[in-house]
Amino acid sequence: HMGAAEQVLFPKLREPDEREALRFGERSLDYRELAGVTAALAERVGRARRVAVWATSVPETCAAVVGALAAGAAVVPINPKVGERELAHIVGDSRPELLLVAPGFEAPEGLGDIPVHEVDLTVRGGELPAEPDEEEAALIVYTSGTTGPPKGVVLPRRAIRANLDALAEAWEWTARDVLVHALPLFHVHGLILGTLGPLRLGGTVHHLGRFSSQGVAEELSGPATMMFGVPTMYHRLADDAEKDPRIAEAVGGARLLVSGSAALPAVEHERIERLTGQRVVERYGMSETIMNCGVRADGDRRPGYVGRPFAGVELRLVDEQGAEITESDDETVGEILVRGPNLFTGYLNRPDATEAAFTDGWFRTGDVATRAADGYIRIVGRRATDIIKSGGYKIGAGEIENALLEHPAVAEVAVTGEADPDLGERIVAWVVQAAEVAEQELADHVAKLLTPHKRPRVVRFVEALPRNEMGKVMKKALAG
Ligand code: ATP
Ligand code: MG
Repeated sequence: HMGAAEQVLFPKLREPDEREALRFGERSLDYRELAGVTAALAERVGRARRVAVWATSVPETCAAVVGALAAGAAVVPINPKVGERELAHIVGDSRPELLLVAPGFEAPEGLGDIPVHEVDLTVRGGELPAEPDEEEAALIVYTSGTTGPPKGVVLPRRAIRANLDALAEAWEWTARDVLVHALPLFHVHGLILGTLGPLRLGGTVHHLGRFSSQGVAEELSGPATMMFGVPTMYHRLADDAEKDPRIAEAVGGARLLVSGSAALPAVEHERIERLTGQRVVERYGMSETIMNCGVRADGDRRPGYVGRPFAGVELRLVDEQGAEITESDDETVGEILVRGPNLFTGYLNRPDATEAAFTDGWFRTGDVATRAADGYIRIVGRRATDIIKSGGYKIGAGEIENALLEHPAVAEVAVTGEADPDLGERIVAWVVQAAEVAEQELADHVAKLLTPHKRPRVVRFVEALPRNEMGKVMKKALAG
């Protein structure tokens, strides 16, 4: 049973001191200042039930989110680069009563006539209001839209609290930690883990505004103890650490490096270890569930594995008929189902999609994985796009991508399936070259490393892969 005190999302804002809460470049707020801004914004939000936040990477965005949460409202973070049509969809779907913005905001097409309030970090209020019920909606996060139009994921306050506490335990994450990141503030990764996490713990977040290896290195050789990033950031860190030993040394000094949002290729994990001595911890989560599993700070950091479920999270693998997979042989592939206090309550205005996403109270993630003897989970890919049915085999795209990345001429790669009259589907590799290479050589490389039926039948050389702001490859944009 949870007492009211434990349910408070940000205990330190109720007993603030001069510890630094947020830093964005030259701009910094301590807990006393942030508590004052939060109180002022909570007054402005008043009884509004839904508040949108124009989520540019500035401290006003963090204050706006915390202020609206303090008022008991549900926050709808909006990607400031969102296009007209998508913005109209999000606003029409979530119907916010107020939009909080940073100074300099210019209302874009598609916004409609929502009242806009400019966050002023010099305006301070008094007391914070009482916390609302834990089952109240805290965030409505729109999914990345990797597989379809974005859906509004309704996350209750309880899910955020429960998941952050589980992460803190697993990662030995405390008020003493200073987290550096450069993630956008409108997805779970940068907002819940990267911002609400440190603020719940009474620690500090240093946001770089824009990612740069130099910026990360300066932080990690200075105040920062840990970093959260996406695989494309670790890729750039490794490239830059290769050229600059000072970057390698700074990264080597971190307490904890965490990667997520997409698979960290095994070669990348190994390259960072070789260059910096650090083994990156990988975790797996999504908008609907926040974090499901991850490698613990004191756990075995095996490349390609996302560890075991976090405290409170139950995880099952099921086959295509929905039957539970009991094998822990690291080979049998199944869809991941999860249950626990970390789950969302549903997709906004989409009872159909919500119902389809659950079976007997378990959430169907749409991701497929294997389980090793020690319970470690290895994500194979997404059921919809990453399982290629070719010549009677079911082949995971991720395994082929990892194999291709081991070839020195492959800089980046995405593997997809394409209709084939003979095979059902044929394996297609979309390759960004690091050096000139023949199609046949890449096919042979995969055949030799894996098995012949896993070799790509077609290799398409491209200048770049279509990626979203989290660095995820948008595979639907590759089709055809
Ligand atoms: P949409 O649901 O709109 O198609 P999306 O699923 O990409 O978009 P998110 O909720 O932001 O939106 O991303 C969650 C997904 O990211 C997971 O379902 C999983 O496929 C992938 N993912 C997250 N972490 C990892 C990881 N460590 N390894 C592999 N995949 C990961
Ligand atoms: Mg998804």
